[in-house]
Amino acid sequence: MNKKEILEKFSADPQRYYNVNLFEDQGFERKSCTTCNRFFWTLDSERVKCPDHSDDTYSFIGDPPTSKRFDYTQSWKEVESFFVKNNHTSINRYPVVCRWRDDLYFTIASIVDFQRVMGSKVVFEFPANPLVVPQTCLRFKDLENVGVTGRHFSSFCMIGQHSIPNDNGYWKDECVNLDFNLLTQQFGIAKKEITFVEDVWEGGGSFGSSLEYFVRGLELGNAVFTEFQGDLSDYKTLDQRIIDMGAGLERFAWITMGTPTAYDCCFGPITEKLIQQAGIDTNSSVLVPYFTEIAKNLELYDDLSQVRKNAIKTTGLSDEQINRIITPLEGIYLIIDHIRTLIFAISDGALPSNVGGGYNLRIMLRRIVSTMGRLKLKFDLDEIIDIQIDYLKNTYPELEKTREDVKEIISIETGRYDSSKQRMQKIVSKLNKEPKVEDLITLYESDGVTPEYLKEMKVISEIPSSFYSKLSDLHQSKKQKDQVNLPLEGVADTELLFYEDDPREFDAKVLKSFENCVVLDRTAFYARGGGQEPDHGKIAGQEIVDITKHGNIVVHEIKGNVPKEGDTVSCVVDAKRRDGITKNHTSTHIINTSARSVLGSWVWQHSAFKEEDHARLDITHHSALTDEDVKKIEDAANSIIEKSIPVKIENFDRGTAEQKYGFRIYQGGVVPVKSVRIVSIGDLDIEACGGTHVANTSDVEQIKITRTKRIQDGVVRIEFVSGDSAKEFVKKKQQDSEDKEKEGKLKEQEKEKRLEQRQIAKEKIPIIAKSLLECKQGTATIDEITIEIAESGKVNFCYSTSDNYDDVFHIGLGESLCKNDPKMVYCGLFEQGEKIRVIVYAGDDISKEKSAGDIVKSISQILGGAGGGSPKFAQGGGTDKSKKEDAIKNAKSMIIE
Ligand SMILES: [Zn+2]
Ligand SMILES: [Zn+2]
Repeated sequence: MNKKEILEKFSADPQRYYNVNLFEDQGFERKSCTTCNRFFWTLDSERVKCPDHSDDTYSFIGDPPTSKRFDYTQSWKEVESFFVKNNHTSINRYPVVCRWRDDLYFTIASIVDFQRVMGSKVVFEFPANPLVVPQTCLRFKDLENVGVTGRHFSSFCMIGQHSIPNDNGYWKDECVNLDFNLLTQQFGIAKKEITFVEDVWEGGGSFGSSLEYFVRGLELGNAVFTEFQGDLSDYKTLDQRIIDMGAGLERFAWITMGTPTAYDCCFGPITEKLIQQAGIDTNSSVLVPYFTEIAKNLELYDDLSQVRKNAIKTTGLSDEQINRIITPLEGIYLIIDHIRTLIFAISDGALPSNVGGGYNLRIMLRRIVSTMGRLKLKFDLDEIIDIQIDYLKNTYPELEKTREDVKEIISIETGRYDSSKQRMQKIVSKLNKEPKVEDLITLYESDGVTPEYLKEMKVISEIPSSFYSKLSDLHQSKKQKDQVNLPLEGVADTELLFYEDDPREFDAKVLKSFENCVVLDRTAFYARGGGQEPDHGKIAGQEIVDITKHGNIVVHEIKGNVPKEGDTVSCVVDAKRRDGITKNHTSTHIINTSARSVLGSWVWQHSAFKEEDHARLDITHHSALTDEDVKKIEDAANSIIEKSIPVKIENFDRGTAEQKYGFRIYQGGVVPVKSVRIVSIGDLDIEACGGTHVANTSDVEQIKITRTKRIQDGVVRIEFVSGDSAKEFVKKKQQDSEDKEKEGKLKEQEKEKRLEQRQIAKEKIPIIAKSLLECKQGTATIDEITIEIAESGKVNFCYSTSDNYDDVFHIGLGESLCKNDPKMVYCGLFEQGEKIRVIVYAGDDISKEKSAGDIVKSISQILGGAGGGSPKFAQGGGTDKSKKEDAIKNAKSMIIE
């Protein structure tokens, strides 16, 4: 089933699918375009072509069809007041970061606000009916068009007009009637100017007719009537039909202003300001014809550079005019557009990064910086942000709260880009041929080199039009869960006792047993889920290995004998383990809110893990945490504990919870059920969560952050402990530091003792030496040092094996003795730790005959080691302490023959 087939079928029966009361009442004529045969409805008897092929296409540029002029802000006020007057509820925009859908990073259309995925089905939840919403939508597929075409934005405001046809809502007739009146009455567009074109819509298994409405070739809106389900050959009407009318607010402003581009009337005063700063002459008469040509050519060519070339040729612009006016204008439009998108995205908690949707934000920021570099524009980004928020807050007052956060993130990210330029330069200098699209993608993906930078460096002249869409596709990762097929058909849902009085012991009936698994009619065992690890415990005396949830059925995997179906079994939950996990779970919420208050509004839970004795929380943050950050977060967390705040758990209808608390509740991801369990810690932290929690923050007792780590671009891991584990951690840390202190003290004492000994030795050496030298014959021992005067009179030998002396002493004494007696050989043997060391000195005269080196070598060998040196001084040693006396004897025999 494709759109063409549906359109053919529907257009063959216009009475049924397209004719609405308005067409009858006003006398609209249905015609077929003489160029493309498309069917359209008009009040203009002379019109023979569809809006795409009419001569008046884009003739509103420089000549708007209305007498009233509305900019972006005013246009929304007009739209809103019109619909409110007509019984619609005006609701606030939803976040641009699509927290309620697993398959989308960003909100791409107003209808997405109300879509909730339940299994394979999409259901609609409307907070009011009918309603109108100024929904900011982000779309990154056409980035290369932004700034150039006059009408492409990376984010735009979709006026969403939605209705469910029931007692409150309406269907086709009233919808088209309202849209017609909005254009004619509220905006003052002549009836004849409005053309409705027949079209169809299909997606996600449903489809329906639609009417696009155009004024002078500009599509202002598209009213989609989602009506059927199934296949063209066999379809039925949906239980819940939906009106999905989406219109571009920027285009409403543009058609009334008739400016050369939509950018000129949609960003507020910042555009004029930057144009002035850059010194561009916008009074130039070339702008209207140039951008009209661009708009027209856009329908004719796929390639943007071709569109641009043609427009330049047709309007006869000189190179000088292009360089002086058009190119810098395109740059300014791009910069303002991209910053506006970043303001919304960062305000709603997205961060530029290399992963997921964050990549789109990073690439936009790099385009901004590169464009400024290429065009040598020196703009103050903070000022642009300020002026834009001042303007946007007329429609979106919530942006005021995150003004400084937006500036902070953009400044950090800009700094990073600047510092990466040197590296990029190196990579670029190695390129030896012009890169193709695939090369560009590799360059960006693996080296962070953007095509904008390559353009800035004149490596490429144009960015290939497929670059952004290819890159976007690459990053459109869809989370896919492994499907496990268990024999659970026909098994009743498990009653979850942990959501009730949560007993630690209970009896239950076995509904199903297979392999080593068992399903009970009721359970208090918490199944693995939401980052919370499963309980442990026993079923009929058998130990539980794992617990998982499949839909609403809890499956317990056990070790040993599996009880039979129909048995009643007694169950015991491991209370200590559950207690630890529960404290850690509440702590995760406490740390999450603490981190947000310390770091900034961009902090969201990325993922979490809670075990009995440890846990971790991964948060979105731009940089690694400093010690100071960690201390502040820990202090904030512990002060929440000290405040003894009750932890409240309530169940809400999902839509009610979203309206009441906003989308911050989705910290743990999407909730695929109609009723959400809201866990709130005062008004500090409110999350949709299915986990187990303490009753009061004081039950957590203490939180201690044990480690933090930047685990990926834009994500920081916080590891922590709570309750008893935190106390143990603190105790152990204290013990460690005490031990360390003790060890330090001991070392200090040893050092002092050594110094003292050295001082004593220093004073003692001259006295001992003097006494020894006084000995003129025979043998003498003074202070454990023995001197032997050889009978031959050729050599004097002095030695000591006392451990009371260290190396400093022996060196000092040996040197002193040999200096005063050139016939002296000194030998000191002493234990040092595991070793026994030897130091030998020989006086000037004797050293020629009895070399200190030879003596040490020989002694060391006896001691089981090695050593050596010069004839006058040598040292060595070994490990065999028992050979001390043998060694001295050997020395003596070598010296005194
Ligand atoms: Zn046509
Ligand atoms: Zn939770």
